[in-house]
Amino acid sequence: MAESKDQQENLINQLQKEKQALLKTCADLQQTQLSYEKIIGENNTSLLKSDMACMELEQIFSAYTDSTWVIREDGIVIRANPAMLKMLGKSAEEVIGKACSTFLDYGFCDQAVCPLRRINRAKTLEYDVQLSLPNTDNKKYLLTIAPLITIDGSPGIVEQFKEITSRKQAEEALEQANLVLEKMALIDGLTQVANRRSFDDTLAKEWQRLKRTNQPISLLLGDIDYFKKFNDHYGHQAGDDCLRQVGKALAGSILRPADLVARYGGEEFVLLLPEVESEGALTVAERVLDAIRALEIPHQASEVSSIVSISIGAATMIPTTEHPPAALVSLADEALYRAKEQGRNRVLLAEPSTELQSNPTH
Ligand code: GH3
Ligand code: MG
Ligand code: MG
Repeated sequence: MAESKDQQENLINQLQKEKQALLKTCADLQQTQLSYEKIIGENNTSLLKSDMACMELEQIFSAYTDSTWVIREDGIVIRANPAMLKMLGKSAEEVIGKACSTFLDYGFCDQAVCPLRRINRAKTLEYDVQLSLPNTDNKKYLLTIAPLITIDGSPGIVEQFKEITSRKQAEEALEQANLVLEKMALIDGLTQVANRRSFDDTLAKEWQRLKRTNQPISLLLGDIDYFKKFNDHYGHQAGDDCLRQVGKALAGSILRPADLVARYGGEEFVLLLPEVESEGALTVAERVLDAIRALEIPHQASEVSSIVSISIGAATMIPTTEHPPAALVSLADEALYRAKEQGRNRVLLAEPSTELQSNPTH
């Protein structure tokens, strides 16, 4: 009986120990469960944050006004924003999963220049492209291509089309305006022939060029006869009109592309004739005199003719280092002075002084 009591006590002790152990295990399990719950909570927060970041990026991608799409290295479109779909005139279902070349071919496809072949992982490429899609009306785009790792881990590219038609148009308009300005800077406003600046520049350039090749250059310096009297008699407006007609007649008297007619100032004009000897210069001068006469502009106040006439001084030189280009103008000016003295309405050829003899014989 006593033995049975001992056994019972032992059993009770044993059970109590097991109960203690179970309680401890239970407490440990509760602790573990708490830890797990904490980890799961943290994971859920991270997942939520990552989902929100994805949504945020998706929203940015969708709201982006530049047409943008993502292409895998095998050419398959895996993402396209609404602007891109609108530009293509397609739905997402029609575009995603298809080859990009199905929709756009700006001359790159199947060539070494295809960005998919060229893309260097660290480099962004830029191209000016013109797209003729139903929705683009031949608009011009700046295409920017950047490398990226797609969602499945494979390499790819993101292409962004920025419309630059208006920028291009503005650039072209600016270029045109600059050309007009450049032209205006070299053209005489009244007569529309080259201006003095243009003449000075051309003479300097031709002087250098012909110095090297040892070739002549001729200059005709023309001055309308009794033009002050013309203005006094017919008025300044009529004087301007006469200058315009004379400019036109002079421009019509030169034949070679290298020749230049310019308004030297007031009622004086120059004709620069590169690679022309004095004989040729005189022929052109006679042609000019005839052209002015053919205008038949009445000039009742003139003392030499009943119509507008011109006096011309002609000079020819072979450019040398010793003489500046102005030497040619001085020579022509002297000849012009003599043409005026000898009765106007004529051409006179300059007699180069020994000092100005450009090609002296030894
Ligand atoms: P000459 O036969 O000796 O050359 O006599 P000229 O009267 O032509 O010469 P002058 O140098 O005495 O007078 C030139 C005149 O040219 C003075 C000016 O009234 C006129 N003139 C100069 N520039 C212009 C212009 O742009 N428009 C007009 N209408 N007249 C001009
Ligand atoms: Mg004059
Ligand atoms: Mg004059």
